[in-house]
Amino acid sequence: MPAPAIRIEDHIRDIPDFPKPGILFKDITPLLGNPTAFAAAITQLAEAFQNRGINLIAAAEARGFIFGAPLAMQMNLGFVPIRKPGKLPYATIAVEYALEYGQDRLEAHTDAFGPGNRVLLVDDVLATGGTMRACQELVESTGAEVVASAFVIELGFLGGRARLAPSEVFSLVTY
Ligand code: AMP
Repeated sequence: MPAPAIRIEDHIRDIPDFPKPGILFKDITPLLGNPTAFAAAITQLAEAFQNRGINLIAAAEARGFIFGAPLAMQMNLGFVPIRKPGKLPYATIAVEYALEYGQDRLEAHTDAFGPGNRVLLVDDVLATGGTMRACQELVESTGAEVVASAFVIELGFLGGRARLAPSEVFSLVTY
């Protein structure tokens, strides 16, 4: 008998009121703890972006790294870390973006992207899209092309997809 199909959503746990009241946090740690489900998520992302001429996977710390690095290995592509300020050792470019309260900043190495590169951005959760929008701007500021943004989970009711338009958005599970 064939093994039952993996349902990614069966491995995501809802945590109400984390990190603050009113937020329903999508906890991916059950997915990460199950090697079959984790591998299925990576394989589904890889299959969605085969034959698209992508040459780099990029992701922002920290949870983006968890999916971006194994996806890059499975697709036999390079991986670029996008980091919080002051973490990268070589010369950097940066993008500032608005948070609910205040500003934040993401950085990448100056030689990480550039014209001719076709980049797939990856993160665990698409919420408002603010973080991914900043990553898009960072990549595009170098002359590289963002082919799409891929997520394990999309919180559709927050409208993040519209914020990333017209760039392509792909997600494995939508709530
Ligand atoms: P965004 O509002 O799209 O910029 O979300 C920023 C980051 O916060 C995402 O990359 C997620 O890792 C995380 N995040 C936001 N909302 C949630 C949520 N409800 N559950 C889990 N992670 C979240």
